[in-house]
Amino acid sequence: MTVVMAPVIGSLHGLRVLRPTSVAEVFDLLERYPGAQLVAGATWLMRAPMRAESLEGDFILLAGVAGLDTCTVGDGAEFGAMVTLHRVAVATAGVSSLRALHEAASKAATPALRRMITLGGSIAATSFHASDLVPALLCLEAEIVTDRGLIIRARIPAADSVSCHERLTWRSGNEYSVATVSMSRVTSTGEIRVALGSVESAPRRWTEVEQELAQGPLTPKRAEEVARAHLEGLRPVAAPGIPAEYRLSVVPTVLARAAGRLA
Ligand SMILES: Cc1cc2nc3c(=O)[nH]c(=O)nc-3n(C[C@H](O)[C@H](O)[C@H](O)COP(=O)(O)OP(=O)(O)OC[C@H]3O[C@@H](n4cnc5c(N)ncnc54)[C@H](O)[C@@H]3O)c2cc1C
Repeated sequence: MTVVMAPVIGSLHGLRVLRPTSVAEVFDLLERYPGAQLVAGATWLMRAPMRAESLEGDFILLAGVAGLDTCTVGDGAEFGAMVTLHRVAVATAGVSSLRALHEAASKAATPALRRMITLGGSIAATSFHASDLVPALLCLEAEIVTDRGLIIRARIPAADSVSCHERLTWRSGNEYSVATVSMSRVTSTGEIRVALGSVESAPRRWTEVEQELAQGPLTPKRAEEVARAHLEGLRPVAAPGIPAEYRLSVVPTVLARAAGRLA
């Protein structure tokens, strides 16, 4: 094993903060410090005490790791794990096939947070059920490149498609999304992809609804009816200020809005 002397930039009560500069150094540190936590934007990690989780052990900062913050948008797109939501939003502005991703990255959280939250952290924070980025990546069929537990980048294939991202927030739910729909439609084939977020414990493709929507014209009214017919299959989560049944009740409207934009 190559031993990398990555600088320890802080130490408190035996807790180490390590700052590697390359992906190879990250892998070496993960071997040397099993259980060390990767730190990206830290917006999830910093709330560990609010979730009654302890913030102990060693931390490996990904900021400054070469190659993780690259961003390419052309035929398809590729984003390094450390690209922030703000940068995703800027890079995808005006690209109709990536509009779902643009809107997700532009509408999530707040402007200040969007400059901290990263693509990799959004994918890895799997217990955050209201992620905006993950449904958008799902409906665009993104490939997530990982190695030894490190998310390195997301690749989005080129597609002749249009897409959008709809979310409904509720003030008493701290402005978190109550229901989120990312939808894309392939222009040449009419294929429809729907990803549902914020409703269940994790975002997912809503394939039952995709298949039924594909059987007829894409209109808001039909989308609402199809969503209603499939609500029973959903397992909504309750969160402070947002009853589970409320999430279900708004899903048809959110899907109808998305359908109306792609019709
Ligand atoms: C008040 C508030 C409101 C928010 N609202 C929204 C919202 O509306 N929509 C939304 O989408 N997000 C929202 N977020 C962000 C979301 O809740 C998470 O905090 C965020 O996605 C985590 O990203 P991060 O880059 O800060 O990751 P971090 O907090 O640094 O890390 C999160 C987890 O991912 C792991 N990790 C990070 N990078 C990698 C990697 N490259 N490979 C492997 N593991 C990795 C870490 O070890 C950790 O376990 C909000 C955050 C706050 C504070």
